[in-house]
Amino acid sequence: MDFQFDDNLVEFRQMVREAVKQDLPADIREGQRRFGGNQSDPHDSLTWTKILAKRGWSVPHWPVEYGGQNWSPMQLFVFQDELTRAFAPDTCWGGTHMCGPVIYTFGSEAQKERFLPAIINGDFYWAQGFSEPGNGSDLANLRTSATRKGDVYVVNGQKIWTSCAWMAEWGFFLVRTDPTVKPQRGISFLLINMKSPGITVRRIPQINGEAELCEVFLDNVEVPVENMVGEEGAGWTYAKFLLDHERTTSSFIYFNKRDLRIAQDIAANQMLDGVPLSKHPRFQGRLAQLEAEVTALEWSVLRVLANEQFQYNETAAASVLKVAGSRLQQTISELHLDLLGAQSIRQFPFEVHDRPNSPLWPDVTENANQRALIQRASTIYGGTMQVQKNIIAKLAFDL
Ligand SMILES: Cc1cc2nc3c(=O)[nH]c(=O)nc-3n(C[C@H](O)[C@H](O)[C@H](O)COP(=O)(O)OP(=O)(O)OC[C@H]3O[C@@H](n4cnc5c(N)ncnc54)[C@H](O)[C@@H]3O)c2cc1C
Repeated sequence: MDFQFDDNLVEFRQMVREAVKQDLPADIREGQRRFGGNQSDPHDSLTWTKILAKRGWSVPHWPVEYGGQNWSPMQLFVFQDELTRAFAPDTCWGGTHMCGPVIYTFGSEAQKERFLPAIINGDFYWAQGFSEPGNGSDLANLRTSATRKGDVYVVNGQKIWTSCAWMAEWGFFLVRTDPTVKPQRGISFLLINMKSPGITVRRIPQINGEAELCEVFLDNVEVPVENMVGEEGAGWTYAKFLLDHERTTSSFIYFNKRDLRIAQDIAANQMLDGVPLSKHPRFQGRLAQLEAEVTALEWSVLRVLANEQFQYNETAAASVLKVAGSRLQQTISELHLDLLGAQSIRQFPFEVHDRPNSPLWPDVTENANQRALIQRASTIYGGTMQVQKNIIAKLAFDL
């Protein structure tokens, strides 16, 4: 198997690289470099979505009829690789990668008309209202209820760990519309305006100093019936469709490549006894091992992408990539900390722009510890490590 990119892809990569260099505002790049890790500032995400939209690039993975580009899976890979490499933030993932595809696949014409252009243009942020206290991995047993009364559903319950709900204008929620049938059959997919009366959002302080995750309380929230996506009771199918979309990107390959490069850079510049850490056998070994693991992960992703017939969602491939990729994220960020030692605890709030710099405190020392802390979450969201391993056991080994 030949994994060399062909000339067309090399040219495509160069074209994207030039465009990103031209389009990505320096302050957004800087914010992402200092704080990002694999998370993006939500305001930057919306600004960047708008910028990409001008080139028609904010949803290149969508079908052309809905605003996508007719790019091959390899081109999409190269595109995302270049964006991450340049420290571009994500687009608003909830819109562009999660509920957008659900709306164009299962939604009504009115929903498509109303929401797709807004997603493409980054008009507002979307919250994903799935997890509940006690029902994260066990999502099928969620309890938030939606009872039909005339032209509205009346929604009651609580969601938790809802990323950026504090600034979201809309949310896509899983709600229980029928408590009498098998759990999966009684779930529906509802689009809810986050400013509706009866919604209370409470931010949760995080160990990395941020408070992006939220609790969302829904108290007799009235949602027009036209905001139900597809059929009542079919929400579980749509959620699985959406999560499968999410899992195909869960190898974190773009971040792993970028973060390894950063580790190599730190190792080449941090000195111990007058010798760069990259020349010390202990770090040499770790860097070499991680380089091999990141390359193996990239090739695994490319192997899947290169095979157009590959039935991604019917195999354990997505879970294998998630397990390998999320573990690598954590191992690489731990290496950053070990390479930086005490310097990794240097921390600035986002608003501080005139922080003191000196050769003793290179840029990369800023917030390294916070970035490593948020990486702890990569083995939790999008399906925990243990749950992914259960899926692998079942699908790959029939256990
Ligand atoms: C940074 C971050 C962002 C998130 N953003 C969102 C969001 O925007 N919207 C949203 O809806 N949710 C979000 N989540 C929630 C996330 O999807 C859940 O945390 C995740 O699904 C796990 O659910 P839980 O927290 O309820 O843990 P639990 O399901 O209670 O799991 C607790 C522990 O038990 C283990 N476990 C559970 N079931 C099994 C099993 N069957 N076999 C073996 N072990 C098991 C788990 O692996 C875990 O170690 C986010 C989470 C994080 C960390």
